[in-house]
Amino acid sequence: MSGLSRRDFIKSAGLMGASAVLLANKAEIVQAFETAKNNGVKLVWIQGQSCTACTISLLQADNPDLYDAIEELKVNVAFHQTVMQPFGDEAIKILEEVEPDILVLEGAIPIGMKEACLLGEKNGQPIYFEDWVKQLVSKTKVAVVGFGVCATYGGIPAAKDGLGSSYENGSVTGAVGFYDFFKKYGKPSVPVVFIPGCPGHPDWLMIVLASILLGIVPEVDEYYRPKAMFSRIIHDNCPRRGYYGKGQFAADLTETDAKYETCLYKVGCKAPFVYAACAETRWNSGLNVCMNAGAPCIGCMDPGFPDKMSPFYEARESTEIMFGVNPTTLGKVAVGAAVLGVAAHAVRRGRKHPEIKDDEIEKTEKK
Ligand code: SF4
Ligand code: SF4
Repeated sequence: MSGLSRRDFIKSAGLMGASAVLLANKAEIVQAFETAKNNGVKLVWIQGQSCTACTISLLQADNPDLYDAIEELKVNVAFHQTVMQPFGDEAIKILEEVEPDILVLEGAIPIGMKEACLLGEKNGQPIYFEDWVKQLVSKTKVAVVGFGVCATYGGIPAAKDGLGSSYENGSVTGAVGFYDFFKKYGKPSVPVVFIPGCPGHPDWLMIVLASILLGIVPEVDEYYRPKAMFSRIIHDNCPRRGYYGKGQFAADLTETDAKYETCLYKVGCKAPFVYAACAETRWNSGLNVCMNAGAPCIGCMDPGFPDKMSPFYEARESTEIMFGVNPTTLGKVAVGAAVLGVAAHAVRRGRKHPEIKDDEIEKTEKK
């Protein structure tokens, strides 16, 4: 593959940036989808509690050279409730009979209120999304892929609603992502790969699907995220990192335009606490990333999004806010590593990060 081994293919997605990898390997990616189609590989995509933005994110992947691959992906989709032509009983029949090779999950599952998410009906009775999930996961032969932060860790549907819900996650529907769903009902027997984000990054999904079709399941971390794309703190590759180092911070949201030459930490940028390749890969075919466009990172790739990242436009006063029990089980270790990474960076720079306490820097230095 353009001089890359198949295993290097997925790894290079994180190092080179997914867009660059897609561009360099587009012929092989198109071929992978074509071969999958010819071999009758079935991809099933179901949507639970979601806004469909993850589907839109994929369908609007705008690299014209990848058009064929995306078209092939569409052709190969046995079921996708947003883009498929069959509807009604015909669509439900497909879902009943299909044995997916790859199952893509979009959106959260309301396990505290099953009737909050229905998909079709049988004999006049609505069918719970949760029941489809259990049925399809058990029939999936190759891999289950969660796309978007709602599908993976609960995201917006699992956020606290302020209504005093008694459900442990705080959401009125008891929504969870598949990370928690699999903990409750058992992990699938096939590999699981999660690509969080609000929405998920289309290039990363293409890389992961192509990789699986080529026979390589990406190596994942404890949250089932591909290590190639989720091993580095976003902040470390931010185009504004130089301003952070020089202590040039935007005082408010009127100072985020590029002309002010500011870092967005003090207006709430959460990128120092989030692992993802956003700054390397960027979005819209590698054109830009949130911070570069003047928008503080809101941490949409993080397992604790949005609650753990709120309020979005306020700097964290204390690292303690990042610890504690997480509705989507945000790991102390991962966050601790992020915090220590920031502290280490501050130490290297000879100055204290705005939210790092002195004792935390000492801990970092001793390591
Ligand atoms: S805090 Fe945010 S804006 Fe500032 S350098 Fe880090 S990632 Fe970039
Ligand atoms: S930079 Fe932050 S807000 Fe932007 S896509 Fe990445 S995690 Fe989400």
